[in-house]
Amino acid sequence: MIGGPPWTRFGTIPDNLARPSGPFLREFVVPVPKKKKSKSKSRSNRAGAWKLGKPARSLCPRCNNAKLPHTVCPSCGFYRDRVVIDVE
Ligand SMILES: [Zn+2]
Repeated sequence: MIGGPPWTRFGTIPDNLARPSGPFLREFVVPVPKKKKSKSKSRSNRAGAWKLGKPARSLCPRCNNAKLPHTVCPSCGFYRDRVVIDVE
């Protein structure tokens, strides 16, 4: 066992992964956070997981307006190379 403060945690490498080079690599100190995370810190951290990313955007090759990819352009009515919908 390696020495250390009483709150140090130890881990062991399983025998099938340990190298035959020596016993010193079999045990190692596992990183332990110094301070307890406050409720608001961990809750705000979890709240970030719900955040949505920006929607995908592509430019219409005809009128250069932003549109959703793989959809008809709402400003000129084109999809690929032909008119699909009537836009006044
Ligand atoms: Zn367009």
